[in-house]
Amino acid sequence: MGVFDLFKKKPEQPPGGAGQGSAPGAEPKAGAADAAAPKQGLFGMLRSALKKTTDVLNTDIRDLFKREGRLVDDEFLAELFAILVKTDMGAGPAGRIRDRIGADFRARVVHMQDVLASVKDEVRKILQQPEQPIQLAASGPTVVLVVGVNGSGKTTSIAKLANRFRTEGKKVVLGAGDTFRAAAVEQLTIWADRLGVEIVKTGQGGDPAAVAHKAVATALESQADVCIIDTAGRLQTQTNLMQQLEKVHRVISKLIPDAPHETLLVLDATAGQNALSQAQGFSTAAKCTGIILSKLDGSAKGGVIIPIRERFAIPVKFVGLGEQAADLAVFNADEFVEALFAEPPPK
Ligand code: GDP
Ligand code: MG
Repeated sequence: MGVFDLFKKKPEQPPGGAGQGSAPGAEPKAGAADAAAPKQGLFGMLRSALKKTTDVLNTDIRDLFKREGRLVDDEFLAELFAILVKTDMGAGPAGRIRDRIGADFRARVVHMQDVLASVKDEVRKILQQPEQPIQLAASGPTVVLVVGVNGSGKTTSIAKLANRFRTEGKKVVLGAGDTFRAAAVEQLTIWADRLGVEIVKTGQGGDPAAVAHKAVATALESQADVCIIDTAGRLQTQTNLMQQLEKVHRVISKLIPDAPHETLLVLDATAGQNALSQAQGFSTAAKCTGIILSKLDGSAKGGVIIPIRERFAIPVKFVGLGEQAADLAVFNADEFVEALFAEPPPK
């Protein structure tokens, strides 16, 4: 069993059958490409995606209070801590937020809004980072390598990125570098057809480095703006996987010296704390430059972004909000916190 099997966990099943995280080579849902223009604004999408987490934060915290307010004592702080932990933010951050509330309000009778404001402020401090879209190469194609465990959402995220670049009028070439599973190549091909972008592939069992090389060469030849390369999420051992990624790096940089310009790690928001610890080592070894946090929609565990910001030195660049091509947002800390604590929309 490879090390990466350890951080595979059956994700929660969000409503509507979305997010079967471990379904190998899941087919893109029909109509995905028509979703190029989001029906609701990005903030609205973020807010709906985070709704379950917001419910835990707002509703459960509200339930701690009586109408006349509540005394902040050890019992209250323990209850608050338990609610925070439910969002998957981790015991460390939950403990810090609890201590901050203790420091601000202990022995006082307070109302929900006072406590929520402090919680929100503390979360905002942890998440703070400048918005970090993809760094485009000064000239020539920008090469983006996408890595992560099987089922984390790599291929879907690649489709979302391709869709995003395409709507910006950029020319995109995809490289089907997950040659380990035939279904993975098929899945990316379906997306490429839907989005109208070029794809470079070989059959199953082909050399991923050769695919990466050919994809970058094609991007250079056809003067594409962006080349996005898919990779295998699991080989027999972690050493094999690392060697393969190194080889991919090597062949790409022979064609474009500073490529890959970005190596994005896809993390599944529903995979749990254990998955994060495992992914940390991987992120460093694979020289990742940023994170795409997928499957935030429908999960009550949106708080997982907090330990991600704390533990990883690299920034969260995008969040995945669904299975369609348009379901991707650039991560913005302020917007995220606003969505996380949003009041429920009026009925
Ligand atoms: P890969 O093995 O890492 O390439 O993962 P896939 O891209 O094939 O995704 C695995 C499953 O997760 C598929 O069923 C996707 O539709 C689903 N998925 C990916 N991203 C998201 C997301 O942001 N939200 C939801 N709900 N599902 C997602
Ligand atoms: Mg895939």
